[in-house]
Amino acid sequence: MTVEIRQFPCLSDNYGFLVRDVASGKVACIDTPDADAVLAALDEAGWSLDLILNTHWHPDHAGGNAKLKETTGAVSIGPVEVERLTPLDRKVTGGDQVELGATVFQVIDTGGHTLGHVSFYSAADGVAFVGDTLFALGCGRLFEGTAEQMWASLSRLANLPGETTVYCAHEYTASNARFALSVDQDPAVAARAAAVFAARERGEATVPTTIELERATNPFLRAPLLAAALGRSGLSDHEAFGAVRAAKDEFKG
Ligand code: ZN
Ligand code: FE
Repeated sequence: MTVEIRQFPCLSDNYGFLVRDVASGKVACIDTPDADAVLAALDEAGWSLDLILNTHWHPDHAGGNAKLKETTGAVSIGPVEVERLTPLDRKVTGGDQVELGATVFQVIDTGGHTLGHVSFYSAADGVAFVGDTLFALGCGRLFEGTAEQMWASLSRLANLPGETTVYCAHEYTASNARFALSVDQDPAVAARAAAVFAARERGEATVPTTIELERATNPFLRAPLLAAALGRSGLSDHEAFGAVRAAKDEFKG
């Protein structure tokens, strides 16, 4: 590993992340759900902030930018949509690269939850920060994009190496597990759901996850397989995804 990562809970169910490039000592935060929580995590680690990397414009992801820039002088980088909320120093889109010392993040277009949502992936470290696109056993709601766009985004993430560690921005996993159990009879899903409920009982985080685990158990990545079980055969992959997403939106579990 050439990066050190600190994960901390903030707001009601968000996670904040600090990433330190070991070679240079440079530090980034992924999203700014709560400036005070980010500052406290920096303080605890004894790190100073160089970069803010935003995944999308929602206030629980970019709402702390202004205060963090003011207090740390960090450079803010994200998709242009973040400027709905707060100005950026650099705008990025899918295919761009962001350097944090010796660490290189590839910017992946993961639009769908919001139109301009991006994820940050370091191939050398095998880590991806995916914001509100892919969750443990879940995925983000389609607030702005279409099912087709989100399916393309999720597929980009699903095609990363299986061992990639995936840092999702929310602890939604127990609720996601209840939905997964309602649409997927696979024993791997049942086993994972049981582990998730037990972890939450103990107050433990279920984030990060891995691409391999999500490919095997996430009902949204498994949508093409599950569509028949929902009585929806003959759908294209993104239509099947859309059907599972719609079922989750209505799920009362
Ligand atoms: Zn969001
Ligand atoms: Fe969010």
